[in-house]
Amino acid sequence: MAPQTRAFSPLCWFGAPWGAAVCREVMRVKVPEGEACVYCAAPITWADGGFVTPLLTAEGHGHAVYHRACFLRAILPPDLAEEAERACEARW
Ligand SMILES: [Zn+2]
Repeated sequence: MAPQTRAFSPLCWFGAPWGAAVCREVMRVKVPEGEACVYCAAPITWADGGFVTPLLTAEGHGHAVYHRACFLRAILPPDLAEEAERACEARW
């Protein structure tokens, strides 16, 4: 499936598919190359995979981008985030 143009969605993903259900069930978007990951602040590169989520601020709505591993670290306890990332890598 080719990456699609970003549209407002509860959750989107980018990069190469890694075999998770999210890669089949959720909209894929273009890699947000150059945008800063909201978890680690490093810029997203063409080779990264990750997620785009809605972001609501006082100025309105926008989006937040995360590296895949950073997204897992943001939503899971550390031990589960590491386990989930290893599972993603094993499928890859
Ligand atoms: Zn990151």
